[in-house]
Amino acid sequence: NKQILLAKRPKGTPDKDTFKFAVKDIIKPRSGEVLIRTLYVSVDPYMRGRMIDAPSYVAPFELNKVIDGGAIGEVVTSESSHFSEGDIVIGGFGWQTYYTAKEDEVRKIDKDIAPISTHLGILGMTGLTAYFGLLEIGKPKEGETVVVSGAAGAVGSVVGQIAKIKGAKVVGIAGTDEKIKYLKEELHFDEAINYKKTEDIKHDLAKACPDGVDVYFDNVGGDISDAVFTLLNKFARVSVCGAISSYNLEKQDVGPRVQTVLIKKSALMQGFTVGDYSERFNEGATKLAQWLNEGKLSYEETMKEGFENIPDAFLDLFRGNNIGKLLVKVAEP
Ligand code: NDP
Repeated sequence: NKQILLAKRPKGTPDKDTFKFAVKDIIKPRSGEVLIRTLYVSVDPYMRGRMIDAPSYVAPFELNKVIDGGAIGEVVTSESSHFSEGDIVIGGFGWQTYYTAKEDEVRKIDKDIAPISTHLGILGMTGLTAYFGLLEIGKPKEGETVVVSGAAGAVGSVVGQIAKIKGAKVVGIAGTDEKIKYLKEELHFDEAINYKKTEDIKHDLAKACPDGVDVYFDNVGGDISDAVFTLLNKFARVSVCGAISSYNLEKQDVGPRVQTVLIKKSALMQGFTVGDYSERFNEGATKLAQWLNEGKLSYEETMKEGFENIPDAFLDLFRGNNIGKLLVKVAEP
């Protein structure tokens, strides 16, 4: 069983020394357990937060232990009446090639609705984050302007499409021309801005949002968000999902204070984690699958191959090397 462990807690941007490879014996499943062969591993920005030893909504990774996180695998041996060999399951078993799970640690997924990898993306954690974060906090109405940062990523690309389904005008912010083309031509965003190319993001945003901003779905924080804040309309809603621009900073940055904007605009700003909506995951996943089947939603995956490439895939999130959900295929289904 190949595993990737947290070797040391990173300062600044993690690098290959943050991780360590190990080989351990496969543990034979006992009664009520299953042995899983890993097929797909998810790499996610929130994992950066778990690499430091600080209290958060999920416990920090432990040093010299397997990096856990969303993964999909195939049951190869079952000692549980709930699972059969060949079942495809999802769980938090993370960066290892095999895992012996208790039957309540994993959940079977339906192979027939969509490719199984989508359960780590559009039909899974990132899709649900977009769904609840936008609809429960952003609450876009027809004709309103929705701005989303990190727009071509796993969460952002779904946010923009749901906002379009709700009849909003959608403006995306992302970091490459290829992403801008994808947002406009494939996802039919009304406007898209390459924040790495613009000389004045405030100016470009103001041009893209002549009626101001009613909903801001924030995946990145930092300068980009500071610019969006200047355009908020009366009763705007800001859904604070992520702040990836700050995850690798050694010194916390301080931007413009937003209180006066919120007061003047009677605006709402709310952070959330997708787990806040765990009791409604079925509802969200059903709706996302329905939109997918109706052709109202589309998705992209950036699929890296090979167990050895998992750490590099994780680092790609911070280099912006992904369109849609970034995954690693560890073995053939
Ligand atoms: P993405 O697929 O969006 O991948 C990360 C993207 O972030 C990169 O492709 C890159 O795109 C962009 N990025 C990286 N560094 C910077 C930077 N310094 N400034 C601006 N953009 C940057 O990841 P996810 O969709 O999985 O996650 C998006 C956000 O949502 C993250 O902040 C994550 O932490 C958060 N999140 C929050 C959840 C919650 O429950 N609240 C759940 C899931 C995710 P580009 O080329 O555009 O720079």
